[in-house]
Amino acid sequence: MSLAAGAKRSSSLEIPQAMAALRKAGAAPGLTFDRKTPVPGIGPAEVLVAVDYAGICGTDKHIYDWDPWSAARVPVGIVTGHEFVGRVVAIGAAVRSVSVGDRVSGEGHIGCGHCTLCRTGSAHICPSIDIIGVDRDGCFAEYVALPAENAWPTASFVPDRWAALMDPLGNAVHAVSEAQVSGRSVLVTGSGVIGLLAVAAARFLGASRVVATDVEDHRLELARRFGADATLRADDAGWVSEARRAAGGDGPEVLVEMSGHPDAVIGGLAALRNGGRAALLGLPARPVALDLAEAVIFKGTTLVGVNGREMFATWYEVERFLASSPPDLDALITHVLPLERYEEAFALGGRPEALKVLLEIGAP
Ligand SMILES: [Zn+2]
Ligand SMILES: [Zn+2]
Repeated sequence: MSLAAGAKRSSSLEIPQAMAALRKAGAAPGLTFDRKTPVPGIGPAEVLVAVDYAGICGTDKHIYDWDPWSAARVPVGIVTGHEFVGRVVAIGAAVRSVSVGDRVSGEGHIGCGHCTLCRTGSAHICPSIDIIGVDRDGCFAEYVALPAENAWPTASFVPDRWAALMDPLGNAVHAVSEAQVSGRSVLVTGSGVIGLLAVAAARFLGASRVVATDVEDHRLELARRFGADATLRADDAGWVSEARRAAGGDGPEVLVEMSGHPDAVIGGLAALRNGGRAALLGLPARPVALDLAEAVIFKGTTLVGVNGREMFATWYEVERFLASSPPDLDALITHVLPLERYEEAFALGGRPEALKVLLEIGAP
């Protein structure tokens, strides 16, 4: 597919017809590295981005493994990946918000633009959402196309590799913001990339005390570096009562659940003091059996589901976070591999020592 009529491109930038990309070539586990993938065309309101770095996240692993969720949702043939930073190389004729040459990251959730939710500031939970790398072609490729309004020009003070993390940073900031942590004690269950970012974001947003859990000591050490006052091994039998003690008072006032593990969901809700608030972002692999009467109803717990990022309130918030008290994101980027070594990169993703694995695509 070639560029739409009227698309503007810089005269100095040569855009080829074909590109290297990771595609879901068949309804089976794995991805295919394909150098002959057509460079996506763009519509009048879209931009084409040359990808420098792309991050592998849990969603990508589900698609790689071709689990029941992916098999039911992801169209065979698409290019996967949704976390990236790159440079705009072409813009549609109607685009005014970004220019060729801008460095951008992207909001991967594309709302329909005309439903009630899209029109009232909640496009992130649009019932007809299209997600890049899930429902349409994504960024594990030399080029990705997306609507101009989804392209986020990254502030110049943010290093390239950090700018590739805007999406998970946004997840963390959105969750912590929904959790309403200011002046409150917070329990973060699960210290993976988003959990660790949530610890730092909770500090930024004024939590009085932060307790973090995980089953890996080096992640707990990072949690302390990112601002946790106390850390607990979630595989210690007494962690729920320890979490209550460590949070002080009657237990944490806020739970930010990042693991999706049933023990963390159930234990986290049990640790929460009465009248507490829980923001749930970690995706359980299967339904979790909860004693609603004890865990939620009698305690007067407020449960909030958190999906994606608010468009674009969260993105502004992330930028202020990075400008004022940035956590050391280099500590989270444990591996950077070229696109063609994707099999190694995906294998690393399942290992405890790996946090964020980046694919290096067009970057020098
Ligand atoms: Zn992601
Ligand atoms: Zn919509």
